[in-house]
Amino acid sequence: MFASYSGYRLISRLITYLVICFILGIFIGEVVWVLLISTVILLFWHYRQLSRLNFWLWRDRRLTPPNGQGSWEGVFNGIYRLQGKNRKRVSQLAFLLSRFRQGAEALPDAAVVLDAEYNIVWCNKLAQLLLGLVWPLDSGQRIDNLLRHPDFSHYLKKGTYHEPLELASAYSERRILEVRIMGYGTGQFLLIARDITRVRQLESMRKDFVANVSHELKTPLTVLQGYLEMMQDMAEPDSPNTKAIEQMQQQTDRMRSMVEQLLVLSRIEAAREINLEITVNMAHMMDVLREEAKALSMGEHVLSFHCDDNCHLYGNELELRSACSNLISNAIRYTQAAGKIEVSWRKTVSGAVFSVTDTGEGIALQHIGRLTERFYRVDTARTRQKGGTGLGLAITKHALSHHQSELMITSELGKGSTFSFLIPNALIEHKVH
Ligand code: ADP
Repeated sequence: MFASYSGYRLISRLITYLVICFILGIFIGEVVWVLLISTVILLFWHYRQLSRLNFWLWRDRRLTPPNGQGSWEGVFNGIYRLQGKNRKRVSQLAFLLSRFRQGAEALPDAAVVLDAEYNIVWCNKLAQLLLGLVWPLDSGQRIDNLLRHPDFSHYLKKGTYHEPLELASAYSERRILEVRIMGYGTGQFLLIARDITRVRQLESMRKDFVANVSHELKTPLTVLQGYLEMMQDMAEPDSPNTKAIEQMQQQTDRMRSMVEQLLVLSRIEAAREINLEITVNMAHMMDVLREEAKALSMGEHVLSFHCDDNCHLYGNELELRSACSNLISNAIRYTQAAGKIEVSWRKTVSGAVFSVTDTGEGIALQHIGRLTERFYRVDTARTRQKGGTGLGLAITKHALSHHQSELMITSELGKGSTFSFLIPNALIEHKVH
């Protein structure tokens, strides 16, 4: 058991020593000399203990301290205890670190730890393979000096990492990586990269498949429609075939509009970037949309259109037209006769808002989040009856994503709905008068 520290014991030992020396001094008759000599002896003894401690701390290889004497025993033992505690903590930390590294190595993604200046602190094996890093040679190097890609440098400079970045891999140009950066702790960053080549391949296969099938279906459908029209012309008015031919025509019409919508969707999806230099004249587009709406409504609804002056935008006219016209045709199709439909394009502080408000049947809350999925319909039978394909809002969503915008939907069952989107100021043409 180690002797622990006690201030009282230290003082009492010193006083006892001095009292004994004092009594001895009285016996001898030389109190001052005895006290002086005993103090020098005491000092010398302390100096010796101090040099033993020094020797043990700096030179001695033994872990256990030398046997301390008197008041020094507590000091020697205290230091030994502290050393023991530290050793335990260091080994615990080393164990934790090695477990963390093993965990990071087991990740299916490349992981790189960066400091506040984006210098590499650590990376796992997959990072060496996918990002071409050499460990430990690249330790301390700035990551953008090694991943020399203009998009990556731009991404780092921007400093906002909400969206992942897609890059070609260092070991093969054909492999696509999705890179994410996450901040943690104080000024530390974790870069995660994963190979998404397969996902992208599947996605493009799906897109190609849909586009090809839709394209291939167009010709047989046109032939079918042609023959059906001929058969309708030739059929006797009261013949039982007339109804069948009529239904066949309705269904081929539905199929044709579905194929057309699928082709539009494929085209919009395939166009990854659009030219944002071209001005879209919104006043003109609103006029066209009004005429289309009138034709579709056939006078059954109260239509009102509003368009702010001089509020044009940069974008793709065809895509924006299909986005807006889908919203308007939905409002007309899902609003009962005599219902009101308001369409507007207005400037706001943060951009310009296109909105379509109807007094139609409305949509229950649980459906709203899923409306932009392909082929999602609230009431399949009813929608089919109204000539819907379930693709209109998916097209709108994609077209808007090309214009840095998102579809916003508010609706109340039985009261009506508002479909709107905000085009940010960056895409609004500010005319100087
Ligand atoms: P569809 O061609 O079936 O109309 P959409 O993608 O355009 O396909 O719309 C998806 C579904 O959203 C529709 O089936 C319909 O149930 C609902 N919906 C869209 N717009 C409205 C609206 N203005 N009022 C009520 N329901 C709507």
